[in-house]
Amino acid sequence: MPAAASVAENDWRIRLDGFAVVLGTDPHAAIREEIRRLCARFPGTYWRELDRARAYPDEFVRALGDGGWLAALVPEKYGGSGLTLSAATAILEEVQRAGCNGAACHAQMYIMGSLVRHASEAQKAEYLPKIASGALRLQAFGVTEPSSGTDTAALKTTARRDGNEYIVNGQKIWTSRVEHSDLLLLLARTSPRDELKKHTEGLSVFLVDIRSKKNAGLTIRPIRTMMNHSTTEVFFDNMRIPVSALIGEEGKGFRYILSGMNAERILIAAECIGDAKWFTEKSVKYANEREIFNRRIGQNQGIQFPIAKAYARMRAAELMMHHAAALFDAGKACGAEANMAKMLGAEASWEAAEACVQTHGGFGFAEEYDIERKFRETRLYQVAPISTNLILTYLAEHVLGLPRSY
Ligand SMILES: Cc1cc2nc3c(=O)[nH]c(=O)nc-3n(C[C@H](O)[C@H](O)[C@H](O)COP(=O)(O)OP(=O)(O)OC[C@H]3O[C@@H](n4cnc5c(N)ncnc54)[C@H](O)[C@@H]3O)c2cc1C
Repeated sequence: MPAAASVAENDWRIRLDGFAVVLGTDPHAAIREEIRRLCARFPGTYWRELDRARAYPDEFVRALGDGGWLAALVPEKYGGSGLTLSAATAILEEVQRAGCNGAACHAQMYIMGSLVRHASEAQKAEYLPKIASGALRLQAFGVTEPSSGTDTAALKTTARRDGNEYIVNGQKIWTSRVEHSDLLLLLARTSPRDELKKHTEGLSVFLVDIRSKKNAGLTIRPIRTMMNHSTTEVFFDNMRIPVSALIGEEGKGFRYILSGMNAERILIAAECIGDAKWFTEKSVKYANEREIFNRRIGQNQGIQFPIAKAYARMRAAELMMHHAAALFDAGKACGAEANMAKMLGAEASWEAAEACVQTHGGFGFAEEYDIERKFRETRLYQVAPISTNLILTYLAEHVLGLPRSY
């Protein structure tokens, strides 16, 4: 039967894609090579200076944008390159592996998914070509609030319909890159929670053009964090937005945001794997060079083993990441794999970071080695965009069939 044959074919293709990388025939070798060349223009000195000033890497983000890399996931029809998610993972992994920081712009890749999947044809035609060309930056994603945190369905920011407009009131926190973005994808409540049958309903997604809102109901306050991340608190005080800013159907926003989470998790896993490779390459080089007690420190198993263990964990996370991306690209369910890839990737990068500091001894703490900077940067991924605990609750409940714990 044709249907069964095509499922079998797809299954085989998924396995093939996953294994291609393992067997050394990386389908994205050319992408990796180009990203490596681009990143070589942004060495440690560039990132250190920005880190000290907590400044945004404008030049780096512009270079990625000009190269078309941030439009990787925008369909060709709208001026993007229409690449697969697997190809996008190669881009972000190489950025991190080169010692750069994709957090400055990674959201531009995955926020787009909400528009591609749920916006009207008119909205896509208006925004996607400009986003693809770099004329408009879509870097900001306003979901988290101070009082609701991980419990997204409890968020309180409201968008109340008033004729041809919505009036937005409330507050978001950790809205990253909003100062460097033209557009904000905003999740807000359009129906009171106590009037709903399902607690995940009543939320809506809006694409807000924030350029004209900065003195008109929108206040942004930067939050200084342990790493250079351009994150902020955002306050809405009677901010008026046109009805045309609504994406998809009113009240279905939670589902729309969830539908983009798998891509986000897989891309973050790729970044973590890139970080783990950067740390491990540094560790190996130093352990081979540094001589103490008239022998290379890498000769000691106490130095070798943590590096080797972190490497093994990275490779396992990498397999899961390729598997998740191949499932995603084949249009198959990949919630469990995307979550596991993100968790394993974040743990592997942290383990590699820890081994790298230990291998470098005191020099691991010196700014000019970049290790302490990357150490701070990679720590984030066990907390955001979703914390490890919440991934475990997902696996326990939805994969293993254990009772819901919250
Ligand atoms: C630098 C940075 C950038 C960010 N950028 C963005 C952004 O651009 N847009 C955006 O919307 N958000 C952003 N976030 C928010 C991020 O997604 C949240 O911080 C993260 O989801 C955790 O939420 P929380 O901080 O409110 O923690 P909380 O929800 O308060 O949780 C605190 C701790 O308790 C644990 N916990 C909570 N409930 C349970 C449970 N039932 N079982 C077990 N453990 C539990 C959590 O895992 C966590 O470890 C960013 C955060 C940071 C730090």
